[in-house]
Amino acid sequence: MRIRRLRLAGFKSFVEPAELRIESGLTGVVGPNGCGKSNLLEAIRWAMGEGSPKSLRGGGMEDVIFAGTSARPPRDFAEVTIVVDGEDGETEVVRRIERGAGSAYRINGRDVRARDVALLFADAATGAHSPALVSQNRIGAIITARPAERRAMLEEAAGIAGLHVRRKEAEMRLRAAEANLARVDELLAESG
Ligand code: ATP
Repeated sequence: MRIRRLRLAGFKSFVEPAELRIESGLTGVVGPNGCGKSNLLEAIRWAMGEGSPKSLRGGGMEDVIFAGTSARPPRDFAEVTIVVDGEDGETEVVRRIERGAGSAYRINGRDVRARDVALLFADAATGAHSPALVSQNRIGAIITARPAERRAMLEEAAGIAGLHVRRKEAEMRLRAAEANLARVDELLAESG
């Protein structure tokens, strides 16, 4: 899976709609301090489902919406689109947040849950926490990571992180089914 295009509107400092084409090979972002380099990487991680405002350098999730400047009023929503290509052709993933209304996700125009987006990227061995997205402080964090955290990174790189999510969900369903069975047994014992 490769990220081919990135579109931003109202996301952090990208108040006007902007579209970037990402060519094959290594991509670096250069520019003066504060021009929005880190915001670009955060936009990718956010569209991939990042749920922690802190890791996006914000206090709350709505902090990703353009907050306004002395010359421009704030926006009511932020939207980031990433277009990726994989074995099945191009896939367009959109995340949008509106003030007071939370986040919504779409994959190829279809409304989906955050979980679907997370699984799409986890199965392709990438995602909001992928070590392939190297932001400031990240290298130090990888070096000082505990063994369990390093294992999680390797699992993500190997594309099996999605299996853990599915296993957890299957275990939860199993526990619910067991509780139901126990209840049925109790009812049967009472009636018999
Ligand atoms: P540096 O080289 O210093 O690390 P950078 O190019 O990585 O900088 P960013 O940190 O991506 O820059 O961008 C910071 C800019 O984004 C700041 O000017 C900040 O005011 C602006 N910014 C962040 N969030 C918002 C927001 N919600 N609304 C408006 N502007 C924002």
